Amino acid sequence: MAHPQDATAPQLSNDLDVASAATREYLRRTHDLLIGGESVSSNGDGRLTVLDPSSGAEVATAADGTADDIDRAVRSARSALDEGDWKSLRPDERERLMLKLADLIEDQADVIAEIEAIESGRKVGDTRVVDAEFSAHILRYMAGWPSKIHGETLPASVPYMPGANFLTYTVREPIGVVGAITPWNVPMCIATWKVAPALAAGCTVVLKPAELTPLTALMLGELALEAGFPPGVLNVVTGGGPVAGEALVTHPGVDKISFTGSTAVGRRIGEIAGGLLKPVTLELGGKSPVVIMADADLEQAIPAAAWAIFANQGQNCCAGSRLYVEQSVFDEVVDGVVEIARSIRLGPSLDSRAEMGPLVSRAQQDRVDSLVRQGVSEGAEVRVGGSKPDHPGFYFEPTVLTDIQRDMCVVREEIFGPVLVAQPFRDLKEAVALANDHDYGLGASVFTRDLDVAHAFSRAVDAGSIWVNVHNVLDVGVPFSGFKQSGVGTDLGKESVLANTRLKANYLSLKSGLG
Ligand code: NAD
Repeated sequence: MAHPQDATAPQLSNDLDVASAATREYLRRTHDLLIGGESVSSNGDGRLTVLDPSSGAEVATAADGTADDIDRAVRSARSALDEGDWKSLRPDERERLMLKLADLIEDQADVIAEIEAIESGRKVGDTRVVDAEFSAHILRYMAGWPSKIHGETLPASVPYMPGANFLTYTVREPIGVVGAITPWNVPMCIATWKVAPALAAGCTVVLKPAELTPLTALMLGELALEAGFPPGVLNVVTGGGPVAGEALVTHPGVDKISFTGSTAVGRRIGEIAGGLLKPVTLELGGKSPVVIMADADLEQAIPAAAWAIFANQGQNCCAGSRLYVEQSVFDEVVDGVVEIARSIRLGPSLDSRAEMGPLVSRAQQDRVDSLVRQGVSEGAEVRVGGSKPDHPGFYFEPTVLTDIQRDMCVVREEIFGPVLVAQPFRDLKEAVALANDHDYGLGASVFTRDLDVAHAFSRAVDAGSIWVNVHNVLDVGVPFSGFKQSGVGTDLGKESVLANTRLKANYLSLKSGLG
């Protein structure tokens, strides 16, 4: 790791003066709730503190929404669904609004990227590509769906009604008011991938972003209004999970919950929603394996394995946090990953020279630190990293652990930080067994030149996304599902649009014959 004392290395604290005037102006604003097309104060007087993880300094506050605020937002979404212009918009008009929103996001990409970098600690280059540009990409793909959501005509027999003659068909209606609850690790992108399919299906939405990163969700709501979405179609209530989040889940006016976050919170939401018989989509945690076979192109596989875990400081649901390497090349691969980890420049999110930023919060930094310590006490060897720099920002060194056993906490827990555990295997059978030996099943990758091995791996591994010679690639047109404890339902792709619809069957009794 390049140290900040090194003159060529970036200093660790962000210099907010390098941000654009528009970004600084946005941070200075009073961030209230967005309900019914207006910025309104919370019923409570609590404020969320927004920190810059690169320095630990407070940069803004946002409303800490209450259950009453959620109730107002849900009522607004309900009346926009049942009474407003939204209901009567033609599919091509919904499409046009979504395309306009995509354009506005692109126009504001610099500000979105900077705000996201400042509140989440992620590199500004990444937030531009992932949060601003990819959000526009998501909206453009989803904008194609309003005109393609349809039912079917079906040949019903109804044998117990001899002589009856039916025209039978299905229609897909919007499921209703959707409550979207999102995490802090890729805030605007995940908010968009929850909101866009709901809008495409004709739903209205109450979005509750993570308490650590409320700002870009509010921007998304404001840009939707500017694009021409009717008031109340997209409402944003910032606030804490147990209060605002849970009020959204339990609210009788919410017809579906679309959640991305940890498995622990997802399980709680699933329990509540189960009791209420409310449909849910749950995209949850992961502990994704990266498997490197001896025949792989190691020049490609070693950096891919390193960045599978170190990208976004390891705060990716699909982070490749378990590395399994065929015995004969284990030392070469691990030495290569360790070398990359050593060379990574830590730096603040707005500094383009930084290769890795801070974790999102002090709590996250402490959690990563304590899991690594526990792993070491259980016998893991630290090959590189393993500690936090002495700095008020929330940094953690890129870390590689070897000598691991299956029951160690660093193998079982989703650390959600830049910590890789590495273990050798003898053959493909053992590699697959190791890959599957986990409660999670979000993503998995294999590096090999052998197509048979790639296909065998893909068939045998329990994960919603399988990558060959690459790790953690997602696109909006391709469904994204978590198997096992990684989720319920599917995000992205056609499936995410259909998941925001309900299927209605229609039987029209027709007179038989022509006269
Ligand atoms: P989290 O579960 O702590 O919080 C996620 C959201 O849930 C936040 O908005 C939070 O306020 C809200 N929340 C918390 N308690 C709640 C409750 N009782 N009722 C309703 N809402 C509540 O997750 P996080 O720490 O923000 O994000 C990290 C986690 O998200 C990791 O586990 C990561 O793997 C997961 N994640 C999954 C995916 C995926 O698509 N599978 C993508 C990104 C992140």
